[in-house]
Amino acid sequence: MLARAITHVENGSDLGKQISNELVAQSSKGFVIGITGPPGAGKSTLVDRLIGSYRRQGLKVGVIAVDPSSPFSHGAILGDRIRMLQSTEDEGVFIRSMATRGHLGGLNSVIFETLNLYRAFGFDRIIVETVGAGQSEVDVMKYCQTTVVVSVPGLGDGVQILKAGILEIADIFVVNKSDLTGAEQIRFQIKNLLNLIPEERAWTPPVLALSAINTEGIDDLVDSVDSHHEYLVTSGEGESKVLTQIGETLLSEVQGLVEKKLRRRLLEEYSNEILLSKLKFDDAVTKLVEEMTNE
Ligand code: GDP
Repeated sequence: MLARAITHVENGSDLGKQISNELVAQSSKGFVIGITGPPGAGKSTLVDRLIGSYRRQGLKVGVIAVDPSSPFSHGAILGDRIRMLQSTEDEGVFIRSMATRGHLGGLNSVIFETLNLYRAFGFDRIIVETVGAGQSEVDVMKYCQTTVVVSVPGLGDGVQILKAGILEIADIFVVNKSDLTGAEQIRFQIKNLLNLIPEERAWTPPVLALSAINTEGIDDLVDSVDSHHEYLVTSGEGESKVLTQIGETLLSEVQGLVEKKLRRRLLEEYSNEILLSKLKFDDAVTKLVEEMTNE
């Protein structure tokens, strides 16, 4: 039922829209953990181990594997990799892949609405896994309560993290493959980078060493995620995150619609007038904004 509901939401069908509207109230519930990091960092392995740990606690786990760079119609393989790691068919686990490039409704709303669906189905933990460390991944992570950033030795991650603006969104850092040499160095690098950020948040992101493949350090991660969740609840930051998520989704929907309208007008009329010096650039901006907001 969940799989069919997600398809309706993804396709933006009338039923999908109805479902999404009904479920907005769910957005303050649930426990959403985002996991991001470069390909090959061991995210799928980590997610598999996390599922195992939560299942042993008797918790129901939902996973969305998001691949922002894959075309929407071809289906992502991320989720399949996690699914393959699972040894048994487990009723308490639901895994879905989502390839989002080229999706008409925009990435934000699909993620937001799908997460609300998961919440409505009563998963105790929802894990969102993304591939890569670019802007799309940062956008996806905005929809998670707790963001886990995975690094590994040998990829020069310190710099990578700083570039992509990942540092600011991370609640927990994981250095995976700490069975390999160089892991401690990465940990040190990340801690140093964290010291560069002006202290604004009451939460200091821990930097955990892990070896997902050997199931080492998973309990520490589970504990850290729990602590962060508790922090979100007691500080009130969790509530403001939800408001931001709704706001961001609204904004991106509106942006998409306005842009579509604007593009037509710009191409048909305004650009030409500017080129012919019939209209000043600044005046065109003012006129268009007025036109859009008066409609
Ligand atoms: P993803 O692309 O980030 O999802 O990475 P995968 O989970 O597919 O892992 C990539 C490769 O790294 C696989 O061959 C894993 O077996 C391996 N791997 C995952 N975790 C560890 C680890 O803790 N130590 C080592 N040495 N290898 C690992």
